[in-house]
Amino acid sequence: MFEIEVNNKIIEAVPGETILSAVTRAGIKVPTLCYMKDLAPSGACRICVVEVDGMKTLVPSCSYPVQEGMKIHTNSKRAIRARKTVIELLLANHPDDCLYCVRNGNCRLQGLAEEYGIRERRFPSSKKKDHMLDATSPSIIRDQAKCILCGKCVRVCEEIQNVAAIDFVKRGSKTVIAPAFEQSLNVSSCINCGQCVLACPTGALREKSSLREVDEALHDKDKYVVIQHAPAVSVTLAEEFGLRPGVDINGLMVAALRQLGFKKIFDTSFSADLTIMEEASELVHRVTTGGKLPMMTSCSPGWIKYVEQFYPDFIDNLSTCKSPQQMLGAIIKSYFAEKEGIDPEKIFSVSIMPCVAKKFEAARPEMGRNNIFDIDAVLTTREVARLIKMAGIDFDSLTPETADLPFGTRSTAGKLFGGTGGVMEAAIRTAHYMITGKELKSLMVEDVRGLKGVKEAKVKIGDLEVGVAVVSGVGNASKILEEIKNGRKDLHFIEVMTCPGGCIAGGGQPLSTDQESIKARLHALYNIDHSETLRTSHKNKDVQKLYDEFLKEPLGHKSHELLHTHYIKREVLS
Ligand code: SF4
Ligand code: SF4
Ligand code: SF4
Repeated sequence: MFEIEVNNKIIEAVPGETILSAVTRAGIKVPTLCYMKDLAPSGACRICVVEVDGMKTLVPSCSYPVQEGMKIHTNSKRAIRARKTVIELLLANHPDDCLYCVRNGNCRLQGLAEEYGIRERRFPSSKKKDHMLDATSPSIIRDQAKCILCGKCVRVCEEIQNVAAIDFVKRGSKTVIAPAFEQSLNVSSCINCGQCVLACPTGALREKSSLREVDEALHDKDKYVVIQHAPAVSVTLAEEFGLRPGVDINGLMVAALRQLGFKKIFDTSFSADLTIMEEASELVHRVTTGGKLPMMTSCSPGWIKYVEQFYPDFIDNLSTCKSPQQMLGAIIKSYFAEKEGIDPEKIFSVSIMPCVAKKFEAARPEMGRNNIFDIDAVLTTREVARLIKMAGIDFDSLTPETADLPFGTRSTAGKLFGGTGGVMEAAIRTAHYMITGKELKSLMVEDVRGLKGVKEAKVKIGDLEVGVAVVSGVGNASKILEEIKNGRKDLHFIEVMTCPGGCIAGGGQPLSTDQESIKARLHALYNIDHSETLRTSHKNKDVQKLYDEFLKEPLGHKSHELLHTHYIKREVLS
């Protein structure tokens, strides 16, 4: 450590770190726009410039290294004027569209314009951004007019997700962010993860909204509108209403959905339990009969598309189980429709998901039967918050409610699906019971918990030693796939979640991506698991009833027809 002087105050700095890193640790705020923690700095936007004594030019604090004895001024007149000019130049190229923009009130550019007191357009408006919207993707809308070329989406897509579906195209004032050959996103290698949407500081990237369809269905007397909510949603929705991360508002959320007019509110954690019954059975079957190993989870649709495009040789390693969203959708339009005497064509099935890739998944042609889709509309956590706000529902006036039977009961194992490692932990609990007839001594599988991108463990199940890996962020998954390609043989089961951290940090979640918020969300799931008594999927009485009354047995005929699927090799545009 050595000392530097910042704003006439002495602070400590670590050799090799950047000015931004040192001043942030000391609690001194410098605004940033293109900066991304844990990724190499690009220094593209110049918002974070600071003045250093003895230097003629301002330096970008995100990429400039500290030197012993440096005297830095983060808020000198020159630095503030330069930042203001950068913002004014960005605004010159930007539509005055805030009132209509999905990011109104939650936009970094708008926030900076406010912080720096910009009240007029100083530079003449440019026509550079006169671009068409790209609304071709089932999950994401790209609005180039609002793009400030910060490059965060490009870096997330390439450096974290290892997809590289988008990049800077053309030069100078013609530069845009686009897929290869400026094609539209739907024909690119985009896996619909939405991590770029979380990274984008403006409204240039957003989810493709299904609010209008849902609203129309809710007002259509001929439709029976049901909704399911994914495990991660109840521990993140509160953030959209100003509460701190990690507050579980399950009961209030159900009450709000009931006020919105949904006929039935089901819990996707129920079908996570169902998924575990099918997936653990499939794993046991593969392990005991010499089936394709390692088996890989299939509940994260971005990961499925990633394998289909980049690693088609591993398609047979994917579990054939549909995701919990799709399983519940299929069961609602078969078992539930039959039981309640409702024509499946009249059921409009909505899901609230942490993920924009779920919109893509629901639209896959294999996700339905007889021209009836399992799921009719997918809302992200952000969209459902908008729906609740539009209806003027005040959480303070609500009394918590529970989800509806027959798909309202869940184990905490099903709830754990919301975070990285959760599927694995739930599967290990049930696979142990299926193989040994006994419950695990300690249900908590410590080795697969936490936010690390790759976690590995050896799990003893009876006489078997099962090698497991838990991966989140498809960029991390590619590293394991390469190892297996190169001969690695000690893994039997791999959980992969497309988004770093799993569904709690999915592309449809509240926009905060700082690690403390994600940790708080994950711990909310762990707290639920530690505080309740129904902790294994195979003990869920309503899942057992579904098998008794309808499915008969895991991997049986009906399960194959409704709960399992297949995957296709996809060509990639490059
Ligand atoms: S992206 Fe931000 S600044 Fe641009 S229109 Fe939307 S809210 Fe306004
Ligand atoms: S959704 Fe994911 S894969 Fe597609 S462009 Fe964004 S980051 Fe890349
Ligand atoms: S789309 Fe968003 S994240 Fe990507 S460069 Fe433009 S403003 Fe930045």
